[in-house]
Amino acid sequence: MKLLNEKSKMGSGSFHIRELDIKTNIPKGLQRNDLNLPELSEVETVRHYTNLSRSNFGVDNGFYPLGSCTMKYNPRINEVVAKLPEFNIHPLSKNHKGALQIIYELEKYLCEITGMHAFSTQPAAGAHGELTGTMIMKAYLRKRGEERTTVIIPDSAHGTNPSSVSLCGFRPVQVKSSTSGGIDLDDLRQKMNTSVAGIMITNPNTLGIFDDNILEITKIVHACGGLCYLDGANMNPMLGIVKPADFGIDIMHLNLHKTFSTPHGGGGPGAGPVGVIKELEMFLPNPRVNEKLEFVQTEESIGRIHSFYGNFGILLRAYSYIRAIGPVGLRKVAENAVLNANYMKEKLKKHYHLRYDRICQHEFVIDDSLMPNNVTTNDIAKRIIDFDFHPPTIYFPLIIQGAMMIEPTETETKENLDAFIETMIRIVDEAKNEPQKLKKAPFNTPIGRLDLVRAARKSQLTWCSPET
Ligand SMILES: *Cc1c(COP(=O)(O)O)cnc(C)c1O
Repeated sequence: MKLLNEKSKMGSGSFHIRELDIKTNIPKGLQRNDLNLPELSEVETVRHYTNLSRSNFGVDNGFYPLGSCTMKYNPRINEVVAKLPEFNIHPLSKNHKGALQIIYELEKYLCEITGMHAFSTQPAAGAHGELTGTMIMKAYLRKRGEERTTVIIPDSAHGTNPSSVSLCGFRPVQVKSSTSGGIDLDDLRQKMNTSVAGIMITNPNTLGIFDDNILEITKIVHACGGLCYLDGANMNPMLGIVKPADFGIDIMHLNLHKTFSTPHGGGGPGAGPVGVIKELEMFLPNPRVNEKLEFVQTEESIGRIHSFYGNFGILLRAYSYIRAIGPVGLRKVAENAVLNANYMKEKLKKHYHLRYDRICQHEFVIDDSLMPNNVTTNDIAKRIIDFDFHPPTIYFPLIIQGAMMIEPTETETKENLDAFIETMIRIVDEAKNEPQKLKKAPFNTPIGRLDLVRAARKSQLTWCSPET
């Protein structure tokens, strides 16, 4: 597809800006006479963007089983609510009590869902929540007069976990996974000492496994004076079933843009609210909204971590989602997410290697170790695109070589699940009989197989005029 600049024809523009008579202090030498913008007629511009949007793939086009990302359907009612003119208000407006009430109530719902005592909706993403939570850990330790330097993180963790912890000045220490896919308790015990500020754990973890020993894990960390942080991006299978506070979690974030069905991808916007137990409430970011819908501040707070009160549009969508489906609906979400993942896992494990063959939560991980003719996970992922599905998350978690992490979500029909399963089985057949085909896939896309190494090392993301 040609770029706007390549389609441009001088003089064909739809609008012309008259010569302006604005006075400016910018020195003559720094002023521009020409912006070199592409020129296209209105209809060509509309067609360009419409065709561009059709080249994209999203949850609204088809099945998107991207593990750990919870690419579920985003109900349109959320968009209707987010567009209401009453919510189109400036944060400095005095007329924002309604918006504050939404924030206040949403925080209360998140408390009810997770069992935490208080939430802040300021953080703008999961990773931002992790940083906020780690800052709270630090503030808590400082108040106790303790200097602790490390945070324990399992080897199956999302890459943002060690990054957030490092950004906050802690050293991440890795703990091994056990043969059953949870945390290796002996390794954890060995790594615990008084320099450990706490643990950052994902449960269910990135293998889709709920840790059988979670109570023991949080007990071990607490016994050493550490705090337990939960990366709650994988809350989908726990809604209405288990509250993280009940298994010993002190701080956690949620990804509203995953679990609570607000659109995501391409870098945002998102929302990663952080919840804490009562003892840590005073450290939450300033300001907070109280029950009288006034702003309150605490002296012990880690301070502001986002302008105003977070990404309000995302909070509104999550609020709408929770109100629309209610507590019974939330529990159904979890049940069906788990059911769909286990259905698919049972069907696919006859054809693909499944390292941890046990009941999974919302996702599971298969790999390419049984593939004949050197067919790899990358080949499989590329071929999946030809069948109008988005490939699963690949080569993650790092502890499984050639991982394919599949999260079907609760919003898919059985027909869709079956169609994907059939495709995956067909690809195994192709791997046996026509491996060359898999090496060259995809065939039905505007651009075929990319050289991934070159794309990463020598990426060119801007357009350069052929004349320059
Ligand atoms: C998505 C995800 C994150 C990061 O969330 P962002 O909103 O992308 O910053 C962290 N941990 C897990 C397990 C995730 O799935």
